Amino acid sequence: MSDDKEMAPVSTVAIVGAGQAGAEVATLLRQHRHQGRIILFGEESFLPYMRPPLSKAYLAGEIGADALIYKAQAAYDRAEVELRLGSRVAAIDRGAKQLLLDSGEDVAFDKLVIATGGRARKLDVPGAGLRNIFHLRAIADVELLRPQLCAGRRLVIVGGGYVGLEVAAVAVKRGLKVTVLEGAPRVLARVTAPEVSAFYERFHRAAGVEIRTGVAVIGFAADSSGAAVGAVQCGDGLEIPADFVLVGIGLAPNTELAEAAGLAIDGGIIVDAFSRTSDPDILAIGDCAIHAEHGFLRRRIRLESVPNALEQARAAAAFIAGKPVPAAVAPWFWSDQYDLKLQMAGLSDGYDELAIRGSTNGSSFIAFYLREGTVIAADAINRPSEFMASKRLIGDRIKASAAELADEAVSLKSLIAAAATV
Ligand code: FAD
Repeated sequence: MSDDKEMAPVSTVAIVGAGQAGAEVATLLRQHRHQGRIILFGEESFLPYMRPPLSKAYLAGEIGADALIYKAQAAYDRAEVELRLGSRVAAIDRGAKQLLLDSGEDVAFDKLVIATGGRARKLDVPGAGLRNIFHLRAIADVELLRPQLCAGRRLVIVGGGYVGLEVAAVAVKRGLKVTVLEGAPRVLARVTAPEVSAFYERFHRAAGVEIRTGVAVIGFAADSSGAAVGAVQCGDGLEIPADFVLVGIGLAPNTELAEAAGLAIDGGIIVDAFSRTSDPDILAIGDCAIHAEHGFLRRRIRLESVPNALEQARAAAAFIAGKPVPAAVAPWFWSDQYDLKLQMAGLSDGYDELAIRGSTNGSSFIAFYLREGTVIAADAINRPSEFMASKRLIGDRIKASAAELADEAVSLKSLIAAAATV
């Protein structure tokens, strides 16, 4: 570091987006002894909160909004983070190093972290603007959706991904008549093996959910009022009656601010291992960012998960503070449906062998995905301690045979230990 830099005035880090990624980088910066101002802007009026329970315990009414809060106000006060909630950033002026807020105010920054997350993707079909068609991304969405969850009502869910299936589990338990429509030939098709998809389809059907796969939704028909949805129209001519609809077809990253500022974008704001964008003074983290080359996966990828958001926040905070950036780890994720806790590590696409440890006829097993003899991913259902070992197998790129992995008499820890002695 040059003398000039050491003498530099205390600098301001501005963070746009007060989700988990933004909150994490803000407080970590102070832990790294950042001396200057830290300003966190969030357009929602809530303290930064955790989104995963929105489709699980919070939707079910098992926990209140307080339980969603990621860090208490006191944590921001202690870290002297200036929390500007209900404050939307309208533009980034890179030349002047200023943010322009919706209110018309300008705020100067030295470093900027973009953590704007994403929004629920909409279906662009006739009737999409009718009342009672919902999406699920924020607390405000749950406040609209939850009052609809009354026994006997007909809910059609478009999308058999995690969010759709989690909502189906909550709704059918409440006594609703639930139909899930999935365009692919099976649910969770992009992320799991056919065996795991089949397990989830069976489980949902046994609980009373109707699952239709290979269905293209082409429109929504109005009910007798003409204003609200009455049926979902499918490509095969079928019309499925609905009192309300949830569209759960993924996320569109909020890249507009970055794009307007001229940063490099490719389905996300492109970042390097330090979370730096194409402008060295601007970083991007969480759902809005795409890894130019993920440090562990070694490929371009945008990940939508809390562990990824926090990992990128740690990298950004360390980089800004001039500390070593932690090494990337294998991505991981979880989903709760009924009493099934699914934990996934690694990415399974491109696998050439599958090993099932336990039975998919029960409710506790692990699917291991191998490529050329190396464990690349695992889906663990109700196996939390073996999941921890599975993360090690994947993270250390351990070679194992499908037969060993499937054999419950062979402990996973012994496979890790054996690899360590090779
Ligand atoms: P976000 O949480 O989206 O936060 C971004 C914030 O930025 C938002 O509050 C937004 O309003 C704000 N913002 C955007 N633009 C501006 C602007 N111009 N000015 C000011 N503020 C702005 N992940 C898991 O790992 N496990 C799960 O089980 C899981 N379940 C999920 C269930 C649901 C229903 C949803 C929606 C997501 C789930 N996820 C899960 C994904 C996980 O929640 C996200 O990966 C994570 O929230 C990403 O955090 P983030 O901070 O990048 O973005």
